[in-house]
Amino acid sequence: MAELLCSKCNQKKPGLSETPLPNELGEKVRNQSCESCWQEWVAQQLMIMNEYRLDPMNDDHSLFLDKEMIKFLNLK
Ligand SMILES: [Zn+2]
Repeated sequence: MAELLCSKCNQKKPGLSETPLPNELGEKVRNQSCESCWQEWVAQQLMIMNEYRLDPMNDDHSLFLDKEMIKFLNLK
């Protein structure tokens, strides 16, 4: 697995083996985030969804989650 400089933990670590989302944001995650930070976000996302009772099928909610993910992973 190719290593990358993760924009969240700022360390050179293995990246994701697959693009996690089928869009531009997914490409950014794959290029900028390590596997372990991605797993952290997956857990964090579940907490946020439970806390705010979000429905990923709802466009507004999914936009909100995207913004939270960009902040969390420090995506550029
Ligand atoms: Zn990382």
